[in-house]
Amino acid sequence: MTVIGHWINGAAVADTARTQDVFNPATGQASRQVALASRATVEQAIANAQAAFPAWRNTPPAKRAQIMFRLKQLLDQHSDEICALITDEHGKVLNDAAGELQRGIEVVEYMCGVPDLLKGEHSKNVGPAIDSWSERQALGVVAGITPFNFPAMVPLWIAIPAIACGNTMVLKPSERDPSCMLLIAQLAKQAGLPDGVLNVVNGDKEAVDTLLTDARIQAIGFVGSTPIAEYIYATGCANGKRVKALGGAKNHAIVMPDADLDNAVTALMGAAYGSGGERCMAISVAVAVGDATADALVAKLKERLATLKVGPGTDNSNDMGPLITRQHRDKVIGYIDSAEQQGATVAVDGRGFTVPGFENGYFVGATLLDRVTPDMKAYKEEIFGPVLCVVRVGSMAEAMQLIDDHEYGNGTCIFTRDGEAARYFSDNIKVGMVGINVPLPVPVAYHSFCGWKRSAFGDNGMYGPDSVNFFTRRKTVTQRWPAGGVRETAQFNFPSNQ
Ligand code: NAD
Repeated sequence: MTVIGHWINGAAVADTARTQDVFNPATGQASRQVALASRATVEQAIANAQAAFPAWRNTPPAKRAQIMFRLKQLLDQHSDEICALITDEHGKVLNDAAGELQRGIEVVEYMCGVPDLLKGEHSKNVGPAIDSWSERQALGVVAGITPFNFPAMVPLWIAIPAIACGNTMVLKPSERDPSCMLLIAQLAKQAGLPDGVLNVVNGDKEAVDTLLTDARIQAIGFVGSTPIAEYIYATGCANGKRVKALGGAKNHAIVMPDADLDNAVTALMGAAYGSGGERCMAISVAVAVGDATADALVAKLKERLATLKVGPGTDNSNDMGPLITRQHRDKVIGYIDSAEQQGATVAVDGRGFTVPGFENGYFVGATLLDRVTPDMKAYKEEIFGPVLCVVRVGSMAEAMQLIDDHEYGNGTCIFTRDGEAARYFSDNIKVGMVGINVPLPVPVAYHSFCGWKRSAFGDNGMYGPDSVNFFTRRKTVTQRWPAGGVRETAQFNFPSNQ
């Protein structure tokens, strides 16, 4: 069986002493193995990144932009190959994989403007014959640690801004779907990226802990579940690193009585069940304002769910594919069981779902839970599966309170025709990314992505302008060239323009 290794200093490195199976979630078969890097291999990657840093830092930003541009072209040319790897190891439908890759490519496109993004600020005559400017300097060797659910997009969110700004990187993708990032690293070399600038190590906690504690790593970008995000943030900061760690989510959509219900239902179908609900911005709770709204919403969702097509991601006529692992499928089913036991109505039941010809795949059918209440485990925790919970409330104020009280604050949305209500909602809700009649308000590449509350730890967001802040540090230079022959007297007062 093929063993997926690492990419260090522009070449494949094996280190296969410890390995783990990589499964095709549609068939349940182990299709490859992934090597789990030892501390020594991660240290080798860090050493190569450190050696590559001085030349890369001094490479003119315009040259770095040209490499970004060639990488964008290569990612476009190889998109079918990349998407096939995503679907093979993650399970999502090919068209959905293409959407994820495209959003990652848009980050590369944004960073093609890196010379402009790194332009500093200049002030002439801040004092007599004194000029001052500030510039953004690269940090050095930085690390990225990424989750399984976007094996192309999230590594691109982190790695591309980091290297475009002049840092060198060691990236550790998810061990559950490691192949596509290795291919992307090879394409980056083809695009002209010097060896050692982008290194990929596959692995588990041993690799992550090495990155967290090695003094040469200056900053860490992490995306994954909240318990691990919190661990990465605490450990990284304790080791003196700059850390941005994005975590889990429970995204609510409020459905107001005046909403265009048909459009809201169409939007919720994609937002709740697309990618099997394995998206950090998936809508997992619909908060219906008023029983009449809730009854109509549930009836329409049930009607639409009867036509939802679930099957292998290789067939683009399917709306969603399997979940990532057998354990995760069982966990999702456990949440449905617990909601039922705690009194929720299982309006559409995805348990016991099989796809003919794919009986060993990790499928769960789309599930709709009605009359979910905030005390239920299925409401409190992130399910990360094709399960939409309907919570019934009496007013918009009650709906907003529910959202504000939840520990997560990644994304949210309101469906309404009332501009005043929408404006009040977006202004006051305690969530980082807000949609108004837009169910997946994932910011585009020239804005930045960041949740609030326990969905994100540390300052700055991912990609966009925030990523330039995160992956650089400001230096301010003040210079003076006294005119020839001028002799000065000592100044003991604090210098000012008085
Ligand atoms: P995860 O937290 O299990 O893993 C993320 C990364 O951390 C992986 O690379 C993994 O190898 C590593 N890791 C796992 N356990 C570790 C440990 N004990 N010590 C050190 N490293 C460890 O997350 P996942 O299951 O791969 O991804 C799904 C989660 O990611 C969901 O909670 C989802 O909401 C979240 N997510 C968040 C965003 C966001 O932008 N906020 C985006 C995508 C995914």
